Amino acid sequence: MNIAIIGSGLTGSLAAISLAKAGCTVDLYERLPDEELVDRDRTYAITHSSKKILLKLDIWDEIISDLIPFQHLNVIDYELNEKVEFIVNDLSKNDQKSTAIGWIAIHKKIMLSILKVISNIDNINKIPTSVIPNTNKYDLIVAADGSNSTTKKLLKTPSFSFNYDQLCITSKVLIRGAKSNEAFEIFNSEGPFAMLPLGGDLFQIICSQSFKRGSYNMGLSKPLFLDYLATILPYGVQPDSIIDERKSFPIKFVLNYSFFSGKYIYVGESGHAFHPVAGQGLNLCWRDVKCITNIVSLPFIENYKYLIPFLYSISRLFDVISISILTDFLVRYARSNIRIFVIPRMIIFLFLKKSCLIRKFVLNIMTNGF
Ligand SMILES: Cc1cc2nc3c(=O)[nH]c(=O)nc-3n(C[C@H](O)[C@H](O)[C@H](O)COP(=O)(O)OP(=O)(O)OC[C@H]3O[C@@H](n4cnc5c(N)ncnc54)[C@H](O)[C@@H]3O)c2cc1C
Repeated sequence: MNIAIIGSGLTGSLAAISLAKAGCTVDLYERLPDEELVDRDRTYAITHSSKKILLKLDIWDEIISDLIPFQHLNVIDYELNEKVEFIVNDLSKNDQKSTAIGWIAIHKKIMLSILKVISNIDNINKIPTSVIPNTNKYDLIVAADGSNSTTKKLLKTPSFSFNYDQLCITSKVLIRGAKSNEAFEIFNSEGPFAMLPLGGDLFQIICSQSFKRGSYNMGLSKPLFLDYLATILPYGVQPDSIIDERKSFPIKFVLNYSFFSGKYIYVGESGHAFHPVAGQGLNLCWRDVKCITNIVSLPFIENYKYLIPFLYSISRLFDVISISILTDFLVRYARSNIRIFVIPRMIIFLFLKKSCLIRKFVLNIMTNGF
């Protein structure tokens, strides 16, 4: 099968590897040089669903040395003054073998490893251009051109979108009092706050708050921003110093009404972009890749290629919509200080604290999707 992929971000690149390994001939279109693809200051949480995809593609062993595993996930609700700790035993029996709840990946390292894998695969042809390819040449065109997808604009594919009125600030911070194998997701009324381990005392903070507050915090000097962080971090955990320049980006919710248009299918952020809470973004994008590879590998599909976009679109619907509802719920949960919600919040925390089965159920959804 002849396939064009538009965009060589982490989704498009993994799609190229996966489809090429499934026997397709892949033309990978990218407007940026490799150096610019690598030079992005982002940190991802990698879940077990992504591990399984990378294992199946035989590239997990190449990537694992770049990842930072964590064994504890602390979820804290400041409104209730409650904390739940998820540990490796809360994973399914099979996932427990990994001895990690998840892994943290630094964009530069993981992108470099994936580009290296691509350079060793003969049936991937990299084409450096931003021109959308000619459809006639291909059986399928995979649009992996990100949340500002030009393909989507060109084909006028409609989507449902709104702004969260939230600014996400990310930064690398040296922190005292936290273990190097624990991650935090903190719900405070400004918005969700995540702290991901990067090795030793270094942590990535991902801090979402109202636009007004976020813009103000971006203007603070480093010492004053550290003071602000000290007010959010849990008791006994202290920020020491900021070791990079803070970055910020506005948070949008985008969900396409359809994941295909003719021969084009939307994978990754060109089809859906959600709030970074609970670290679902990249993992959901990679599950799109797994889905399209499974469909292209179906034994009868060679004679029914025209069905691929439709099959892909319906197969992805449940997982993508469920994760969109889940992440949206968590943002609203974090920001709601309406008193009537206190009792349901207390019940959720009580169940999570008391029942290993409920923790297993929640963690399984977060790590393997729907
Ligand atoms: C500003 C920002 C910060 C983020 N930070 C985080 C974070 O800290 N943690 C996290 O988990 N997630 C983060 N995300 C989300 C995360 O980056 C994505 O989930 C992940 O990178 C997968 O995206 P993608 O490959 O689908 O799209 P992208 O990474 O956006 O890749 C799209 C690619 O398509 C290329 N392209 C676009 N148009 C064309 C064209 N016409 N022709 C050829 N190529 C084209 C682009 O150059 C780009 O390389 C962030 C997203 C953004 C926008």
